[in-house]
Amino acid sequence: MNFLEQAENIEEKIIRIRRDIHQNPELGFKEYATTDRIVSELNTLGISCRRLLPTGIIAEITGEKTGKTVALRADMDALPIMEETGLPFQSKKEGVMHACGHDTHVAMLIGAAELLQKNRNLLKGTVRLIFQPAEEIGQGARTVVEQGGLDGVDSIFGIHIGGHELGVASTRKGAMFAASDTFKILIAGEKCHGAFPHTGIDATLAGAAIVMTLNADIHREFNAFDPLVISVGSFCSDGSHNVVAGEAVLEGTVRCYDKQMHLQLQKTVERLVQKTAEAYRCRAVIDYQKGTEVLLNDDHLVDLTAHSAEKLLGKPLQTIEPFMGSEDFSEYTSRVPGVFISMGSNGQNPSHSGKFLIDEAGLKYGCALYAQLAVDGLQDLESSK
Ligand SMILES: [Zn+2]
Ligand SMILES: [Zn+2]
Repeated sequence: MNFLEQAENIEEKIIRIRRDIHQNPELGFKEYATTDRIVSELNTLGISCRRLLPTGIIAEITGEKTGKTVALRADMDALPIMEETGLPFQSKKEGVMHACGHDTHVAMLIGAAELLQKNRNLLKGTVRLIFQPAEEIGQGARTVVEQGGLDGVDSIFGIHIGGHELGVASTRKGAMFAASDTFKILIAGEKCHGAFPHTGIDATLAGAAIVMTLNADIHREFNAFDPLVISVGSFCSDGSHNVVAGEAVLEGTVRCYDKQMHLQLQKTVERLVQKTAEAYRCRAVIDYQKGTEVLLNDDHLVDLTAHSAEKLLGKPLQTIEPFMGSEDFSEYTSRVPGVFISMGSNGQNPSHSGKFLIDEAGLKYGCALYAQLAVDGLQDLESSK
């Protein structure tokens, strides 16, 4: 029996676990019950595991032959979103929902753990299972790395449930997700009567100029062939119809695909903000937070994934378009070779929406692909020794 047939045999169990986690969603670094549930499932399978702090799990399945280590990663956190799917197993927690499918990732990786534990004779080395917290806030992968979760890992695979065709895996060589930073800018001027603006310092006007400068000028400083997005999504000032604002707060994000550009962006944003604020006689304080790195898939491992996926699923690996979204799996791929894969599951509504829906028939494919990639990844490391 291949891994897909074996996954079909445990499909009911995988779906049951997924529904249970879906009903009990937990936000990043608060996945306590989810952690307990995973530990209990792994212990039942005879797999010992180590809890991460505050949440998350590292577990290992050792093959009958010693060798290198391949990691499989599933993220496990939910989002602060009100569920509106009307599913019979809809979230029991108001305002918290698995709207990105991380419930399915946990269930698929528990399923894969069962298949791998039963097929330890096929493993030429060790499989590290990483149940990662807090992906949605971009901090979980870093915590895993800081707590030694990636130590000794030679290559890593991650799967995300996707909205595309059921049972088709997709990824791409090179950059797949953008590097992503966020910023909050406080602009300080001086409040005054709206009829006499010359008696104060207009923070709204300075803020408006900063929004325009950031959007226009930043594209004059970087090569047009290197994708770059800046979005100021929030602008609040404390004036009113007849009061000139003395304070304004802007919040936004910057995304790019190039490592060098990512290094330079902070200084560029800070300079443009400071100089523009100064031109309008305001002071600006910038809180610039470095977020995720660009997610770079390893070319050789993408070829391996193409081979494994076609052999297992009977359909060729699709090439996915690069994406300006971010994914903290990049914390791993910036340290060891890895691939992030989207597993098609006929999504009906966009992720991060209260109506996000996927076809649970996709879970068995993700489960089987995790297991197949572990076996083939170890085989590949063994042959390249
Ligand atoms: Zn998400
Ligand atoms: Zn996600």
